Amino acid sequence: MTMPTPTDQTPDEPVLPEGPPGLAGDPDGMQRLWVPHRMVYLGGADKPSDDGPGPGCPFCRVQTQDDATALVVARGERAFVVLNLYPYNSGHLLVCPYRHVADYVALDDDETAEVTALTRTAIRALTHAYQPHGFNLGMNQGAVAGAGIAAHLHQHVVPRWSGDANFLPIVARTRALPELLADARSRLAQAWTAVTGG
Ligand SMILES: [Zn+2]
Repeated sequence: MTMPTPTDQTPDEPVLPEGPPGLAGDPDGMQRLWVPHRMVYLGGADKPSDDGPGPGCPFCRVQTQDDATALVVARGERAFVVLNLYPYNSGHLLVCPYRHVADYVALDDDETAEVTALTRTAIRALTHAYQPHGFNLGMNQGAVAGAGIAAHLHQHVVPRWSGDANFLPIVARTRALPELLADARSRLAQAWTAVTGG
């Protein structure tokens, strides 16, 4: 296939990300930003080779490591809180059951209650440490829904600030993360103690 060179384009001809004009579509007034770097995640970077529990699963592996090594912020009886190694923002936390289960409905009542309680405390600790303007909370259940590690359930807690989504991830494939993960872990572990009084 011959790719067009810049000299093949006239100045008034827009350079389109995909294909020539005339493809089928249904304009809806939405603006779209194309983020092909997300294919790194969709393509399986850093994913375990199988879906089973054990050292191949990063959320099972965390349970055998010390807090500082594993970036754990807090541990409960049935679930724990860990910093995401691939954060969307500083302080991006994951609340995970210890048990290696993929589905939210597979959690028992006690696990469900603790995941909820830890999520609430995570919001309070993040607010104490960082004063974010808002949060995104949620679970991506299944690879098709966006879960990077689909085999071990995890709830995202992402602090948000006004203006935190900018063009840097698109033009430079880079997220602006002003704090090292180890420093964030220490700060959040202290904040956790402060808000729980423990
Ligand atoms: Zn696991």
